[in-house]
This record gives sequence, structure tokens and C-alpha cells, in this order.
Amino acid sequence: MPSFSRPHLSVLSEAATSQPAAAAPEAGAWPSATPAGDESWRLEALCAETDPEAFFPEKGGSTREAKRVCSGCAVRLECLEYALSNDERFGIWGGLSERERRQLRQQRRLRLSA
Ligand code: SF4
Repeated sequence: MPSFSRPHLSVLSEAATSQPAAAAPEAGAWPSATPAGDESWRLEALCAETDPEAFFPEKGGSTREAKRVCSGCAVRLECLEYALSNDERFGIWGGLSERERRQLRQQRRLRLSA
């Protein structure tokens, strides 16, 4: 199994906390309470208190438990925007699966090009 970075498993690095905001958020992005580059939201990741395996189900496996946890997470939007901005390809982030994030990216692209 490839190695994944989960919000709750990644300790905030010196670089992550001291870097200035990188780029302006993508136009049409969901509103975020934190500026780009600020990863302090990870400290409130609800998945830190759960089984990380649930967030990386095997192909065809259930995402229900992970999505249930995400639905009650205070930093869901920040997590989702992070995953979209960093092109996270695997696992559940911000309550969305890989396929759902891909669809959301496509919808945003279409909206921007309309
Ligand atoms: S939204 Fe889900 S994956 Fe993201 S930090 Fe919260 S619980 Fe973890």
C-alpha cells in the first residue's frame, strides 16, 4: 500500500507553519476560514480520533464510516480545499472520495470556462 499523508498523521512542519500564503485561492473555491498555506486546521482533524484505515478503503470498499466522521468534522472545508489544491489522489478528504473530488474539480473548471 502506498504511503499517504493524512491530515491527522502529519505533524505540522516548521515550513508549513512559517511559509507565507502561497497563491490566492482558486476562483470559485469554497470559502475557507484559513488562508492558503495555513495548515493549522489539521490540529482539529476529527479523523485523528479514528481508524485511519477507514479513510483508505480497498477498491470497492465502503467509504461510509469515513464520510460519517467527516460529516461531523469542523475543518471539513479546509481539508477538502487542501486535497483539491494538492491533488490528493487517494482516500477520503473533506468527506469526498477520489471520484467525487475529480467531479468537483471538473464542475469548477466548467464553471470557470462558462
Ligand atoms: S474532513 Fe474528514 S479527512 Fe478531513 S480532517 Fe476532517 S475527518 Fe479528517
